[in-house]
Amino acid sequence: MKSSPVSAETRSPVDLLGLNRPALEAYFARLGEKPFRARQLLKWVHGRGVLDFQSMTDLGKSLRARLEREAVLAPPRLVRAQESRDGTRKWLMELADGNRIETVFIPEERRGTLCVSSQVGCALNCAFCATARQGFSRSLSAAEIVGQVWQAHRLLPEGKITNVVLMGMGEPLLNFDAVVVATDLMMDDLAYGLARRRVTVSTAGLVPAIEKLAQVSDVSLAVSLHATTDRLRDELVPINRKYPLAQLLEACRRFIHSPRQQGRKITWEYVMLDGVNDSIADARRLVKLLSRIPSKINLIPFNPFPGAPYRRSDAAAIARFQRVLQDAGYLTTVRRTRGDDIDAACGQLVGRVRARSRPRPRVPMEAAG
Ligand code: SAH
Repeated sequence: MKSSPVSAETRSPVDLLGLNRPALEAYFARLGEKPFRARQLLKWVHGRGVLDFQSMTDLGKSLRARLEREAVLAPPRLVRAQESRDGTRKWLMELADGNRIETVFIPEERRGTLCVSSQVGCALNCAFCATARQGFSRSLSAAEIVGQVWQAHRLLPEGKITNVVLMGMGEPLLNFDAVVVATDLMMDDLAYGLARRRVTVSTAGLVPAIEKLAQVSDVSLAVSLHATTDRLRDELVPINRKYPLAQLLEACRRFIHSPRQQGRKITWEYVMLDGVNDSIADARRLVKLLSRIPSKINLIPFNPFPGAPYRRSDAAAIARFQRVLQDAGYLTTVRRTRGDDIDAACGQLVGRVRARSRPRPRVPMEAAG
């Protein structure tokens, strides 16, 4: 764990749920306590799911009383739980300010993936995503991000969560510090103990943040690519106007060759839009673009939502596209649509966005951000 502590002094009372190990050690040091208190607290809160300081019997009576006065442990409140016919679960959670976010759990035969939100709404305005339609309210705190894992851990049988992906609402790399702290906790043996390969941050392509991430975190990276030319990507993923493909690919190449990422691959997400980005020529361009980057590719059949201007590519087109990538040697999977009967599939999460800023109108060549 090499992350630096986050400042606990700015908020009072401090929410200890959102402090990673170094930050908790710094917190206890300020109280005149030994660093091992941090390990004890991590085990109680994340390992055992205990939020009541009085139950933390090995902390000592006076420390417990002090924590009760000066600190809180406040995960998002569970408002609604839904279960899909395929077993996918979706939880609606409410934050202290009344905003609501969604968290999804996707059970598979040999793994269980928790899909976590990083912001309330999203500011990136991707053309094919329902979250974009709601506008943006704010970033989540580290406590609100890891609090989703805390809730899911409590709601599911032990050991069910094997993977966490930051693929819910929001752009994780626009909430950099909180995402790094929260994912540190997911990977900390005393908290959720997930392997580094099994905690994935997904980004629409914020180049400077990708560079920074390589230096401070062990998480794995997924990139929402969706197009193989700047012209199309400018339209589908407007942040591309700021960080075009050549810059993005170069940042990803450096990221995956950085010391913390040894032996790993970048996951490329590619939404399959009928007649828009699903031709053989697109597949061939994709092969070329990724040629110097250890990569695996995840094709996502488009999930429609009311008013969406796209259709899902048909199965034959997806299979054809996949074959070109596989023939070029790329591990290429097609994401099975899960939970769409409860609007839990990719790009369908909405929650409730308070005090939102309106999404910008979608004019194809408008300059982004
Ligand atoms: N902002 C981050 C995290 C969101 S991840 C990112 O862009 O990566 C959600 C994934 O689902 C992204 O790959 C996104 O592009 C994809 N997605 C969004 N809307 C979708 C839709 N309607 N159908 C299928 N995939 C969608």
